[in-house]
Amino acid sequence: MKKVFIFLGPPGCGKGTQTDRLSKELNIPHVDTGSLLRENIKNETEFGKIAKSFIDKGQLVPIEVVQSVINERISREDCREGYILDGFPRSIEQAEALKTMWENSPFEFEKSEKVAVYFDIPTDVLVERLINRRSCPKCGKIYNLISSAPKNEGKCDICGVDLVQRKDDTKETAVLRFETYNNETMPLLDFYKNEGLLVQINANQGIDEVYTELKKVIS
Ligand code: AMP
Repeated sequence: MKKVFIFLGPPGCGKGTQTDRLSKELNIPHVDTGSLLRENIKNETEFGKIAKSFIDKGQLVPIEVVQSVINERISREDCREGYILDGFPRSIEQAEALKTMWENSPFEFEKSEKVAVYFDIPTDVLVERLINRRSCPKCGKIYNLISSAPKNEGKCDICGVDLVQRKDDTKETAVLRFETYNNETMPLLDFYKNEGLLVQINANQGIDEVYTELKKVIS
């Protein structure tokens, strides 16, 4: 089994849900740049202040900010047995930066135990998924109002608190995020193919089926 996972796919493809599951099973952290940036915004850090305006417009946050946030996160002790990157890298520039970081890493697994997984899914399924996505602000559990609705309308099954919609999950911002994805992130597929790291799974299936396919391609 590999130890470092790069999950690639458009917004709403289900990377986050699959990452949570794999992270629990393998006992390695889920490193999610979107959440790390939102945490910075909530705590009103300098990085958060810069990130906010880009996130609200569905654009990529400048590489200096994202790289600092990610470097700090993956250098922590809990990443020594591996980690799952979700939402990073998102451009060739970021992938090159990550490559250099790994080349200079003192840890062997960061050089040799990597795989990039592409979650393949048709675009028309995605806008529907995004605008129906809700999450629990307390435990982070993700719901979909159509395919995995909470038992009590608008409330988290686990915590009972009101579910929230991400500000950038509106139709208008979702469309901008897809444009950004197509322009900046799609070229990463060729990048990782050339690196010999790319595998692909069909993300247009139920959560369990996607997970079964994921486990097959990473083992
Ligand atoms: P996500 O939660 O992964 O959908 O990310 C939400 C937003 O955070 C994105 O639309 C970007 O504005 C920003 N973001 C997340 N990851 C990155 C990244 N690797 N590089 C630049 N911006 C990012």
